[in-house]
Amino acid sequence: MIISSCKKAETTKNKIVEIPTPPKEIFEYGYNIKDYKVIHDTIKSGESFGVILDKYHVFYPKINQISISIKDVFDVRRIRAGKPYTILASKDSTEKAKIFIYKHNKIKATIVDFSDSIIKASIYKKSIKTVEKEVSGVIYSNLSNTMDSLHLSANLTYRIADIYAWTLDFYKLQKGDKFKFIYEEKFIDDTIFAGYGKVKAAVFKHKKRKLYAYRFIADSIKKIPEYYDDEGKMLRSVFLKSPIKFQYRISSKFNLNRRIKFYGYKRRPHRGTDFAAKIGTPIMTTASGTVVESKRRGGNGNYVKVKHNGTYSTQYLHMKSRKVKKGDYVKQGDIIGYVGMTGNTGGPHVCYRFWKYGKQVDPLKQKLPSAKPLKKSLKPKYLEFIKPLKEQLDAISPSENPVENTFVTENIPQNVIKK
Ligand SMILES: [Zn+2]
Repeated sequence: MIISSCKKAETTKNKIVEIPTPPKEIFEYGYNIKDYKVIHDTIKSGESFGVILDKYHVFYPKINQISISIKDVFDVRRIRAGKPYTILASKDSTEKAKIFIYKHNKIKATIVDFSDSIIKASIYKKSIKTVEKEVSGVIYSNLSNTMDSLHLSANLTYRIADIYAWTLDFYKLQKGDKFKFIYEEKFIDDTIFAGYGKVKAAVFKHKKRKLYAYRFIADSIKKIPEYYDDEGKMLRSVFLKSPIKFQYRISSKFNLNRRIKFYGYKRRPHRGTDFAAKIGTPIMTTASGTVVESKRRGGNGNYVKVKHNGTYSTQYLHMKSRKVKKGDYVKQGDIIGYVGMTGNTGGPHVCYRFWKYGKQVDPLKQKLPSAKPLKKSLKPKYLEFIKPLKEQLDAISPSENPVENTFVTENIPQNVIKK
């Protein structure tokens, strides 16, 4: 915050004395604007600091002097076309610029004050008020439309989609799915909306399952927030290392150059990782998602394919039996079938296939999200932390958001951007 220290000589001679109510003093960026001629403008393409000041009757070498003396705070070469600025100029006939205010954004501005012989530059930040908000909604067509109908911006939709990117496939949300969020909105001067703050907690009710997400900072040094579910499991989860819990061995790795004796050493690429285990061993989905295929077909035998998000899917082959059907929502670690020998296989194993953008890749060589799960020692603290948030979420009354114009969007893919 800057406080103008300029002591101006009183030059006004003909003061008007008969004013019934004195004009309200309005301060902008710490300056009483009635003392100045105020010019609001936007930096045009190709316009430099010098060009702008010149326009308002400040000339070289004064411009150079200003640029040099403030360079530690503000590099005038970095002003950008399209940014708004304000000039406070003298009210007399010279209309000479005295103060230049460059607005980086709605909140931050740099103030260059050359009204005095001492030139000053400072950063001004408007005070921001954070207000906690609650919302609930019912999906009629897709999340974006529902958010629109609740007058929530796409920005918040993306944030939510990001939090749930590893838990929910937003293309698979269904009519009747419900959600509740606790989030923050920021306001400048109490009234001007300045964007969203934290999304503190959220819950989606999808296919009869309640999927909670709580923002929690586990790393007290790095202070990077992460989202966890009601059991402390991370939402932005890494894949499980194996679809089988224990007692397995990797009998064959992903290998595009595999040559097999039986086939006369011809190249027989293996686009999966084989986990050999006893018949009947449970097979888990390595990440949450929606079952997109569950059937028996040719060499695959009984298999299940799970779509996790717009990027990743996983597939599990040669099952003895399948426990899920197409369309089911499965959470990371859920059992989806049992190890068997169906299809083209020499022994009991699950062939685990990993799809990225529709192509099969080696899961062991993927750069996957690298978040650390919640430490066991932190879990009690976490559960304590989420208790009031859960109560608050559960207490939000279900909203009756208006039914959107579903006929418009019915057959158009949902416009939530996915990674
Ligand atoms: Zn295999």
